[in-house]
Amino acid sequence: MAQSVKRAFTYRFYPTPEQAEQLARTFGCARLVYNKALEERSRAYTREGRRVSYEESSAALTAWKRAEELGFLREVSSVPLQQALRHLQAAFTNFFAKRAAHPRFKSRKRSRLSAEYTRSAFTWRDGHLTLAKLGGPLDIVWSRPLPEGAEPSTVTVSKDAAGRWSVSILCADTIHPLDPADGAVGIDAGITSLLTLSRPIPGLTDAAGKVANPRHERADRRRLARAQRALARKDKGSSNRAKAKVRVARVHARIADRRRDHLHKLTTSIVRENQVIAIEDLTVRNLVRNHRLARAISDASWREVRIMLAYKAAWYGRELVVVDRWFPSSKRCSVCGTIAASMPLEVREWVCACGAAHDRDVNAARNVLAAGLAER
Ligand SMILES: [Zn+2]
Repeated sequence: MAQSVKRAFTYRFYPTPEQAEQLARTFGCARLVYNKALEERSRAYTREGRRVSYEESSAALTAWKRAEELGFLREVSSVPLQQALRHLQAAFTNFFAKRAAHPRFKSRKRSRLSAEYTRSAFTWRDGHLTLAKLGGPLDIVWSRPLPEGAEPSTVTVSKDAAGRWSVSILCADTIHPLDPADGAVGIDAGITSLLTLSRPIPGLTDAAGKVANPRHERADRRRLARAQRALARKDKGSSNRAKAKVRVARVHARIADRRRDHLHKLTTSIVRENQVIAIEDLTVRNLVRNHRLARAISDASWREVRIMLAYKAAWYGRELVVVDRWFPSSKRCSVCGTIAASMPLEVREWVCACGAAHDRDVNAARNVLAAGLAER
């Protein structure tokens, strides 16, 4: 049965100088409102032991807008400011539920520049998106079409450290489940390769089932290292340093974009060809203990893979089984079930007493699959 899901579609766009200026002002105002509300909530809590509600913050915003010294808040759309308060509210809800750390002040330099517009603050007509107080429609690069007849419900505009503008449009999309597949696959989050599957998929993995890093990534990493060295040589506060910083951010952004594309292709193929997908539940504790860069990157990718697999499996009628994290996937022989006494990380290949020769990662992926099938 087809199902309707909310989906975000992200595009690049090119603001006019006036739009860029107005958006920059909006980002600044939204950050200021967020920080002022956070300050007020912290003060009420430490001085009076009292929790401030969203309604109270919202009333405070109305008062700030009337204040002479904050009059500039009236020059931008009020919706992104309201949304900033909603985000703060959500951050506190997560904090009180012990799901997240205490909300922190947004810094001018480190925080993401973004503004969120809900339905009342934009118009969507004949394929043109116009935000409140922004003059004409945005010049969007429609790299892929929005779903037919889509009605955007939320629009988020942001600018990254590389100076690129993007707009994320949330709208309803209809997903049709795929025909049932007969495959089942186990996935191991490797270190040497990005992922290892218990069985190879032609064109996607090598003959053993290993998925390599995206093409061009090595070259991009060399470029990144070069850009970072150049940045380190520039004087603090100089305009050359600012330029070098943007160059570093651009290479970073390209690596991240390619990696995400790669992971999308990968997870779509995995979901398309398999009815059951078994993965390991790697703990956050396990992940942060390792500080090596390569590991950090593969961990970030793994988190993304997991998220993608979860929603794509739900969309297309597949079953994602998450295997217990203490399961000895690397030490166990996938043929006879014998568990080896130890399996140091540097051991990439081993032979079991039963005679089976194993590649460490492929063996682990097969064990994850077996455990996943048993757990269903
Ligand atoms: Zn064996």
